Amino acid sequence: MDIQFSNQDEEREMHVCESRREGEWIIFTCPHCEEYENRINLQTKERKCRKAKDPFIFHRGSFLPPSLEIEGSTPN
Ligand SMILES: [Zn+2]
Repeated sequence: MDIQFSNQDEEREMHVCESRREGEWIIFTCPHCEEYENRINLQTKERKCRKAKDPFIFHRGSFLPPSLEIEGSTPN
């Protein structure tokens, strides 16, 4: 069954987040919302989310697996 939320979806803005890795954390930030930040801990799966001012904006992001990181990179 196809469930649609047509009116809401059309009004809802979607932002694609940028991701980066800091140690055990994957950090998603939005180029449009300075205050938005979503962190996911790779070890514990803990999430910390700082919401955008506008709660109706939908944020999504993806992170490339560590195996695709450039070999030889150093933390500092
Ligand atoms: Zn945003």
